Amino acid sequence: MNVTEFESVPAVSSDEAPRVGTVVMKFGGTSVAGPERLKNVARRLVAAREEGNRVVGVLSAMGDSTDDLIALAHEVSAAPHPRELDMLISVGERISCSLAAMAINDLGQEAISLTGSQAGIVTDTTHTKAKIVEVRARRIHEALDDGKIVLVAGFQGVSTAFEVTTLGRGGSDTTAVALAAALGAGICEIYTDVEGVFTADPRIVPQARKLHAVTYDEMLEMAAGGARVLQLRSVEFARNHGVRLHVRSTFADGPGTWITEEDERMLEKAMISGVTHTTEETVYRVGGVAAATLFAELAAAQVNVDTILQSGDGIVFSAPVGDRAAAEGVLGRLGVDWSARDDLGKVSLVGAGMRSHPGIAAKTFATLERLGIEPEIVTTSPIKIACYVGLDDVERAVAALHDAFELDRPEAERAHA
Ligand code: ASP
Ligand code: MG
Repeated sequence: MNVTEFESVPAVSSDEAPRVGTVVMKFGGTSVAGPERLKNVARRLVAAREEGNRVVGVLSAMGDSTDDLIALAHEVSAAPHPRELDMLISVGERISCSLAAMAINDLGQEAISLTGSQAGIVTDTTHTKAKIVEVRARRIHEALDDGKIVLVAGFQGVSTAFEVTTLGRGGSDTTAVALAAALGAGICEIYTDVEGVFTADPRIVPQARKLHAVTYDEMLEMAAGGARVLQLRSVEFARNHGVRLHVRSTFADGPGTWITEEDERMLEKAMISGVTHTTEETVYRVGGVAAATLFAELAAAQVNVDTILQSGDGIVFSAPVGDRAAAEGVLGRLGVDWSARDDLGKVSLVGAGMRSHPGIAAKTFATLERLGIEPEIVTTSPIKIACYVGLDDVERAVAALHDAFELDRPEAERAHA
């Protein structure tokens, strides 16, 4: 057994017919870190409004303020109550939105900020990792009809039990995509502190290229493989609702990366989209338990399982480092034999062209072998080969694979697509 798990996505129902000319523009934490940057975001939103669009801005919390709020909670309580944690951390996005609305009003356009709840983002009842179940967009439509720029606090909603919930780290991306789907916007612009999605992390591979286009499936694999630019769930949402994403820089003009349906031209010259890596996973090995029991318990404890491998002598799975306490709780309760490794990193080669080109795996393993790296675990999908290697080998493996598949060449950008 060998699967990569993605979360399923609910249908989004909007209670209004879509209108033309709606744009959803999402700005991340770095883009709103400080008054000058907020004013810059306000200018961008005003410019889009002045071009005649119906404009919805979705903002993250300023800079590291979500981290700071979480740290504060842990100073007060060893295990902050999830409901109260959501009450606390949902505040960050409200601050950005209200400040941006003030700045927009000063620029001569009307703006209104809304909490997730006011914006009609309805979620399930899982605190700190809620999933959107419905978007009731009426209030946003009314404000847009009045000519206002609407600022929606990202990362949060109201549960079916009327509690404030948050959508998991990076959740403002999902807010933006859900709104784009519900409002019929077609395109969702994600403004961030990088210029787009790269063929590898440019800090490790300086020759990495900015991709012009990647497919939804490639982006899902790249996000699961450690590319931090988008929350995984937002990509899945976009794919299921046909929302095209444009990831671009807040601080520079010019095009970024489009995340979109597969197009033949995309794969003609560059069948590989990139090499991603993560060092933030723990790998568990468990014996003496049925897979059905184990994964049901892990799911109930909200552990986000990624890789699963089952063989005769047990089950191996990986999960984010942040889910370690929850995973250990489950394994302890089940009373099974288990061990965990946090000395492995995952290096993934991703490309939709892999499906139709033999020899990619051979080249991957030959490249690693030349470096003297023997992967501990390998998992594949039709468009991905992921290798768990020692933490110390991660960067060398990324650089060598990037080189072996010639991702430093101009063709790797897919500029023709
Ligand atoms: N502010 C939240 C976080 O830091 C949500 C987001 O930025 O997307 O995770
Ligand atoms: Mg983010």
